[in-house]
Amino acid sequence: MALTKKILVVFGTRPEAIKFAPLIKRLQQDPMFDLTVCITSQHKEMLQQVLSFFAIRADVDLDVMQPNQNLSTLTSVILSKLSPVIAEKKPDLVIVQGDTTTAFAGALAAFYQKVPVAHLEAGLRSNNIYSPFPEEINRKLIGTIAALHFVPTDRARTNLQAEGIAQHVYLTGNTVVDALFMGLKIIEERALDFRDAFSFCKSGERVVLVTGHRRESFGDGFDNICKAITYLAHRFPAVQIVYPVHLNPNVQEPVYRMLGSIKNVHLIPPVSYEQMIWLLQQSYLVLTDSGGVQEEAPSLGKPVLVMRDVTEREEGILAGTAKLVGTSSEMIIEQTSRLLEDADSYERMSKSVNPYGDGTASEQIADLLTRYFTHEA
Ligand code: UDP
Repeated sequence: MALTKKILVVFGTRPEAIKFAPLIKRLQQDPMFDLTVCITSQHKEMLQQVLSFFAIRADVDLDVMQPNQNLSTLTSVILSKLSPVIAEKKPDLVIVQGDTTTAFAGALAAFYQKVPVAHLEAGLRSNNIYSPFPEEINRKLIGTIAALHFVPTDRARTNLQAEGIAQHVYLTGNTVVDALFMGLKIIEERALDFRDAFSFCKSGERVVLVTGHRRESFGDGFDNICKAITYLAHRFPAVQIVYPVHLNPNVQEPVYRMLGSIKNVHLIPPVSYEQMIWLLQQSYLVLTDSGGVQEEAPSLGKPVLVMRDVTEREEGILAGTAKLVGTSSEMIIEQTSRLLEDADSYERMSKSVNPYGDGTASEQIADLLTRYFTHEA
């Protein structure tokens, strides 16, 4: 007799949706699991866009965002709206991903009803509780609550070990790589081509993709990034620099002011996930402060220059797929120029193996969940 286990997945932002998508698709195919997809809509349009691309339907939408929301009100609204869902569905397991307020409140709500929690992308640590804020504490607290920890890298496993968490810790890689491969396959199957939308890709010139949105870089950081891009655009007039600009006014203001009129700098609104991975595929190298992009780019052989002073994703740097350049104009100019001019440096970075996963994480996680429920793991 098949023993069906009820699983509730809870998420609320675009990066969580991307990283959950391949696992949701995998679990939905498996008769062993009865899956309920619950979103909090901490992000709205960006989240819906990812769900519709992957053809995922949310069974429950908690619709938690209210005017003047702060972390305390957001946490308490998620708790109070999610608790009745858990009470009604009576899941055997709740799964959360990463380090958002949704993930933390989701884990806490499950804990209050003594439902075990599985944590995707467990074990990331910066060891600074205020950076990233509040994510560092969110992920630590989830680590304390969770019964199952799916870690993307060995380093993440070591981080958990250092906190005394050693049981039910499984190294699977990051589902972001599964999502990337799945997404590129969908693009191919649907014959999506964004060349008309991004006509600068038609010239055959090299494309540098830039993304940046972190609070820690507002002010001087963004000024320096823009100065470096201005210099690079003039020094390499044939290189096309494309920058989907985050909607935050602290990003929009300096970026449009300083880069708005440079011929080979293409400022565009934030792009859909499918456009993003398509652009990534077309690009020669990537300048970014995004965690997800750092994890995706190496699978396509694209060197990443990380415009942050610290990163909790050191694996890419150790593996040689990424370099930390901070937000100093000089470093950004020096390292980007090197990659554009020195074929050997480029080759080394682009040939390195992605330390974040090989695209099989969801399959491994589904298998581990089966073993967990049949008491084999
Ligand atoms: N992304 C996207 N459109 C954009 C910028 C990013 O679809 O305009 C995707 C990107 O491919 C990655 C994820 O969003 O999978 C990363 O999200 P973000 O940079 O917002 O968050 P982080 O990963 O830093 O938490």
